[in-house]
Amino acid sequence: MMISSKMNSKLNEQVTAELMAAHQYLSMACSFDGMGFKILSKRFIQQYEEELEHAMKFVKYLLEVGGTVQLEALPKPASGFKGVEQIVQAALDGEKHITNLIHGLVALAEDEKDYATRSFLGWFIDEQVEEVSSMVDLLNLIRLAGGNILQVEMRVRHEMTEED
Ligand code: MG
Repeated sequence: MMISSKMNSKLNEQVTAELMAAHQYLSMACSFDGMGFKILSKRFIQQYEEELEHAMKFVKYLLEVGGTVQLEALPKPASGFKGVEQIVQAALDGEKHITNLIHGLVALAEDEKDYATRSFLGWFIDEQVEEVSSMVDLLNLIRLAGGNILQVEMRVRHEMTEED
C-alpha cells in the first residue's frame, strides 16, 4: 500500500462524505421538483451527478494506491426545508463542510509527507472553491429576486445552457 493506514481510513471516510453529499443533493432536487421548480431540480441533479464523480475519484485513487475501500451506510438526507432559500443555504453549508474535510485531508497528507496524495487532492481544493462560489451566487440570486423563484429559474436555465 502506497499510503498510510490512517490516510486510507480518512480517504475512505471521504468516499462516504461525497456519497452523502450526492444523496442530499438528489433529495433536494426532488423537493424542488415537488415545488414545481423544474430548472432548480435539474441543476441539483447535476450537482448529484458531480458528487458521485467525486466519490468515484476517491474510490479509484484508493484502489490505485493499493488501499481498501469500505462502503458505509448513508444517513437519511435532511428534509423538511421551508422554501428554496433554506434548501440552497443548506447546500452551501454542505459545500463548506466538504471543503473543511478536503482541507483536513490536505493537512494530513502534508503532515505525512505523502506527496502523491497531496497532489491528488489539489484538484479537490480547486473544485471546492468553485462549488462554494457557485452556491453563494445562487443564494445571492435568490435573495436579489426577492421571492420571485421563476425569475431565478430563468437565470439558472440561461447559465446551464451556456455551460453546454
Ligand atoms: Mg464533492
